[in-house]
Amino acid sequence: MMSTLNLLEKPTILSKGIYFQLPVKIILLDETIIRSNEPEEVLTFGYKRLGNRFIIPWRKIKGKLRRLVLEKQRFYEIEPQCSLKDDLCMKCPTCFLFGGTGDTSSSKVKYNILSRIYGETFISGSEVTQITPYTANAVSEKDYTTGQALMSILTIPKETVFYGVITLKDPTKEMVSILVENIKRLTRLGARSVEWGRVQTEIQGYRLSDKEELSAYYALKGEPDFGELNDISELDLPNIREAYSKTNEHVKELIAKLGN
Ligand SMILES: [Zn+2]
Repeated sequence: MMSTLNLLEKPTILSKGIYFQLPVKIILLDETIIRSNEPEEVLTFGYKRLGNRFIIPWRKIKGKLRRLVLEKQRFYEIEPQCSLKDDLCMKCPTCFLFGGTGDTSSSKVKYNILSRIYGETFISGSEVTQITPYTANAVSEKDYTTGQALMSILTIPKETVFYGVITLKDPTKEMVSILVENIKRLTRLGARSVEWGRVQTEIQGYRLSDKEELSAYYALKGEPDFGELNDISELDLPNIREAYSKTNEHVKELIAKLGN
């Protein structure tokens, strides 16, 4: 079937129902330990079909990706005051791509922005095998008595591979360029990056569709099979500086149309 779907020339306020999907592979370069009694970036989950797997929740990846997109934007001096801590400007490429709520940001604008970037839980390609239950003596600081605290220590072996799909809705070439460039810059995960292992991130290709077609969950049978994917290099994407400045112009045009 001939595809008539194309990337958009300019972003639109209302969705055109075009989904740009990128299967992404994240490879752990260091061995990482997770403890069950602390909030962690990687967890385990028991799937009926896939067994026990390590997972990285999408919100963790999205949070890190947003931070990277914003950093790069500041490097190009576009809305450099925009900040993730309740200080969203609501008019920059990063806010446009990842969304924001007008009345909770300091800009107090009357509109909200829905995220155009969607994702799913990243799932490890192999099952969890090494689980070390571990009992630690927790000494109470108040009375110096010793109590037993049970915690589970899990080792995620290095070279563990995670699979997931990142989706960009209603994409322009410039938006794709920003997303692709920053996915490649994902070299560590989590907020407390210093305590965390390094990762290598690879984009496996892309698919343009009128729906969200791809999912690592359905594709995972050992190595996931996403079927036929297109090569990113065929897209002839604008360079990253141009992508940011064009998207910035496009966002300003859209906001002007809203009459704010
Ligand atoms: Zn912003």
